[in-house]
Amino acid sequence: MPTLPARVAARVVADADVRRTYAADAASRRSIPPADYTVVRARDLGDVVAVLEHAQATGTPVVPQGARTSRAGGASATEGCIVLNVEALDAIREVDPLEGYAVVGPGVVNARLKAELAAQGWCYGPDPASADTCTIGGNVATNAGGLCCVRYGVTADWVKALQVVLPGGAVMRTGHRTAKGVAGYDLTGLFVGSEGTLGVVTEAVVRIAPAPDPALTALATFDSLDGAVAGITALRLDRHRPALLEILDRTSLATIQQFGDYGFTADCAAALLVQADRPDHVRADLARYAELLTAAGARQVAVADDAQEADALLQGRRVMSTAFEAKGDRLAEDVCVPIARLGDFIAAVEGIARRWEVTIPVSGHGGDGNLHPSIVHDGGDPESRRRAWGAFDEIVRLALSLGGTITGEHGVGRIKVPWLELELGAAELARQRRVKAVFDPSGIMNPGTIFAREAGR
Ligand SMILES: Cc1cc2nc3c(=O)[nH]c(=O)nc-3n(C[C@H](O)[C@H](O)[C@H](O)COP(=O)(O)OP(=O)(O)OC[C@H]3O[C@@H](n4cnc5c(N)ncnc54)[C@H](O)[C@@H]3O)c2cc1C
Repeated sequence: MPTLPARVAARVVADADVRRTYAADAASRRSIPPADYTVVRARDLGDVVAVLEHAQATGTPVVPQGARTSRAGGASATEGCIVLNVEALDAIREVDPLEGYAVVGPGVVNARLKAELAAQGWCYGPDPASADTCTIGGNVATNAGGLCCVRYGVTADWVKALQVVLPGGAVMRTGHRTAKGVAGYDLTGLFVGSEGTLGVVTEAVVRIAPAPDPALTALATFDSLDGAVAGITALRLDRHRPALLEILDRTSLATIQQFGDYGFTADCAAALLVQADRPDHVRADLARYAELLTAAGARQVAVADDAQEADALLQGRRVMSTAFEAKGDRLAEDVCVPIARLGDFIAAVEGIARRWEVTIPVSGHGGDGNLHPSIVHDGGDPESRRRAWGAFDEIVRLALSLGGTITGEHGVGRIKVPWLELELGAAELARQRRVKAVFDPSGIMNPGTIFAREAGR
């Protein structure tokens, strides 16, 4: 590794054990860290500029990093890289309700932004399940979704403008703070979801909206998958969509119920969790959702009367990850399919699980068609790993064959690089590489993420 400038050297994590904690993200915890990598914890914009000046001059790869909750492997260290962690850039600089935005550093944790805005009567919509830990910078870089997208949309719908440091250290601004603005190309849209492959986000201007009412929840159980999909269809077509619409399939319910008694019966084919939060209409909306779900074939719909009951209905969903991980290692999938094909998808995954002899609970953001099959296997056993990846490959291809996409919210990262060309085609992939080269001509930004590494890089 070339000698670092003094300003950058002062921010290097020297302790080897601490450094190792920055080497892996949520998708790569079992992998062995590379032999040679440096972790720099930036404290301000100047530190980020200094790293990217040095990296460009020396051809050193840079992996931008937030809270390392990536499920796609894009935030983990690679051989010879500088991991550039920006969690300390965590100021909420400005909240402007009149123009409808907040200006935040990339290290601001999603849930903290929400809480600070809620205290002033405002909200920021994107709500990943990792909200308590993930950062706005990571959310912007992955165009994160979450539980409430069915009503509130994804991160891209909430980002108005960005400050980005490019390779070489140039500081660039995209977008606008005004209510409207259409000057030039939408480079904000390009950077949202670029997974750290174009530059480092050092500030985000995010849209804010009036806070909704506290949400109430309903839990509906179904004897058939078709009934659950009919329920999702009815709620999506309702004039006032729910704030949350999650699905748990038969295998998910059984796995959660094995973990603890959360009231799911063994013969249940699927369950839907629904929330309403429309100001002044929460109870009326929830009652209407319950009627629609019953008409769609729900065996039972439990409707919460207050926050405590709402919380109780969410318990099973909350322990889901822990319940799955109690059964083994987990390859977390993230495809998105058209709503009308949800039933076909889940039924086909049951077949894939049987063929590859792995357990695959399917759950996720049913209201968006964005599902997370969790391939439970034994990561320490090469044969079990082979079967898990065989199932993973089939699931990705299945989603494409149904008119879906290989990733709904986690991103391509490093994990899904081999499948991207299947979705985009060779010509589109080549065009996208050329777009990257405009901002990152030397290819130092997060190489191996989204695109396969080119020879010699
Ligand atoms: C339990 C759990 C639940 C999850 N639930 C959801 C969910 O509901 N919805 C969802 O969308 N995701 C979910 N995720 C995935 C993950 O939380 C998101 O992708 C999140 O946006 C990553 O944020 P982070 O701060 O951890 O970023 P990191 O993991 O550190 O980085 C993610 C990517 O962004 C890049 N990056 C990070 N910061 C910057 C920056 N400042 N500038 C440029 N690039 C940057 C990295 O290089 C990497 O490619 C979940 C993960 C876990 C572990």
